[in-house]
Amino acid sequence: MVKAFVPQLAYFEPKALEYPLGKALYDKFSKMDIEIRETTSHNQVRNLPGDNDFQKYRHAKSTLVVGLRKTLKFDTSKPSAEYAIPFATGCMGHCHYCYLQTTMGSKPYIRTYVNTEDIFEAAEHYMEERHPEVTRFEASCTSDIVGIDHLTHTLKEAIEYFGQSQYGLLRFVTKFAHVDHLLDANHQGRTRFRFSINADFVIKYFEPGTSRLVERIEAAKKVAEADYPLGFIIAPIYLHEGWREGYQTMLENLAETLPSKAKADLTFELIQHRFTAPAKRVIQKNYPMTKLELDESKRKTKWGRYGIWKYVYTDQEQEEMKELFMTQIPKLFPKATIEYFT
Ligand code: SF4
Repeated sequence: MVKAFVPQLAYFEPKALEYPLGKALYDKFSKMDIEIRETTSHNQVRNLPGDNDFQKYRHAKSTLVVGLRKTLKFDTSKPSAEYAIPFATGCMGHCHYCYLQTTMGSKPYIRTYVNTEDIFEAAEHYMEERHPEVTRFEASCTSDIVGIDHLTHTLKEAIEYFGQSQYGLLRFVTKFAHVDHLLDANHQGRTRFRFSINADFVIKYFEPGTSRLVERIEAAKKVAEADYPLGFIIAPIYLHEGWREGYQTMLENLAETLPSKAKADLTFELIQHRFTAPAKRVIQKNYPMTKLELDESKRKTKWGRYGIWKYVYTDQEQEEMKELFMTQIPKLFPKATIEYFT
């Protein structure tokens, strides 16, 4: 069982202590075996322990910066939501293919924002602009928010906030099973709780530091029993020896474990493994021993929307993947919606 995250080192921006959450985290960490430092800004977090980049990267992933969110302009998050709502950035997980490695560059530490009222106020403006249309907010664009929420309860606050809103919906995805504190949140069915799942083999070799498949499925069961709308992102779908059996077993275990009421409103999102040249470089730097297959000659190129070539599976391989999932998901979950395969 992967333990719930506890930072080894916590930085506090002075202003964070003026907020109840900042003060509560400071008091909590003071009583735990966590080194606390002050910093005027997260940009000052330079002297992380470690003799080289490899060690510094690992220390950064167990460092939490408690600060304020200053940019209250939200990024768009198409197609699954209108906006990304920023409660945290960074993640303690060590998934070899994590997109944060390229987006967070030299600052892979975790940041949590204590000025949640400001963030909700900004969300309110976005909802007003679009009303009477509903506005969907995605909370996991820049972090695995569930992974730190047992410490902050920011996500719980957001779930309850959107539970009360008339025109807002919340969604997020996680690879962590530490969901117990979220089960009694007053969500009013306005939050879609998604789990990222994968075949056992893929999680074991490429997702260190995250919850195992069986733990994620058990957590999904609890979430379903708490009446949240539920969804699964199967990503990245990765071809490995025995992949058909691996994914088939994963789907069967899920179907056996989930209560039938959850199966009436389930969503699936399917994303094949892909990489770019910059991502390959950073993966090989951060995880030099990785067994992740990153051979361009075995892939097909696809022009990405960020103006860079992506390497995806060949048409034939994609067809084989689709055949498995498009046959098995409707068979095991007849009422589920497959939102996309990409
Ligand atoms: Fe990245 Fe998600 Fe893995 Fe965290 S859990 S390292 S955000 S892929």
